[in-house]
Amino acid sequence: MTSPSIPAEHPAWADRLRAVGLRVTGGRVAVLEYLEAHPHSSAAEVLEVLEPQLPSISAQSVHNIVHDLTEHELIRRIDLPDSTAARYETRTRDNHHHVQCVVCGRIEDVDCAVGHAPCLTPSQTHGIRVLVAEVTYRGVCADCEAEIHDDDHSHHPSIAAPAAPTERSAHV
Ligand SMILES: [Zn+2]
Ligand SMILES: [Zn+2]
Ligand SMILES: [Zn+2]
Repeated sequence: MTSPSIPAEHPAWADRLRAVGLRVTGGRVAVLEYLEAHPHSSAAEVLEVLEPQLPSISAQSVHNIVHDLTEHELIRRIDLPDSTAARYETRTRDNHHHVQCVVCGRIEDVDCAVGHAPCLTPSQTHGIRVLVAEVTYRGVCADCEAEIHDDDHSHHPSIAAPAAPTERSAHV
C-alpha cells in the first residue's frame, strides 16, 4: 500500500475541504480523519499520533490546521471545565452538548433535547442577541463511581470540589 499525501480512499474530506475553499493537504485530511475516529481529542493528542506518519507535521502546523478547520466549521472546538486543553470533533452544526466525568475527564456527546440553538432561555440578555447556550453536564461516570465505592476512604466528589484525577487520566 502506498502512502499518498491525500488518501484516495477518503475522498469525502477532500471534497469538503474544497467546498469551503481550503486547499486539500495531507495534514488537513489526516487531522480530519483522526478527529472523525477519535472525537474530543486535543491538538497535542492529534500531534502525538500523526507525527510518526507525517514527518512534516509539527505542533505549530497542527495548531494552524485545527484553527483553519474550526474557522470553516469542518470541526468544532470545545472547551470544557474539566479539560486542560481545547478539544476538537468533526460533529458540527448540530448544537449537541457534552457530559463530562469530573473525576477522570471522560467526555461523551449528548444530543440537544431541544435541537436548535439557543436551547435555553436566559432570564436577562442585557440587549445581547443570544446565539447559543453552551451546555455541559458534569458528573461522575460509572467506572469512577465504582472506584469511589471500593475506596476505604470513600467520599463523594462534588462539582464544588472534584476529586483528584485518577491514574487513568494520566494516559488519556
Ligand atoms: Zn470517570
Ligand atoms: Zn461532541
Ligand atoms: Zn440543548
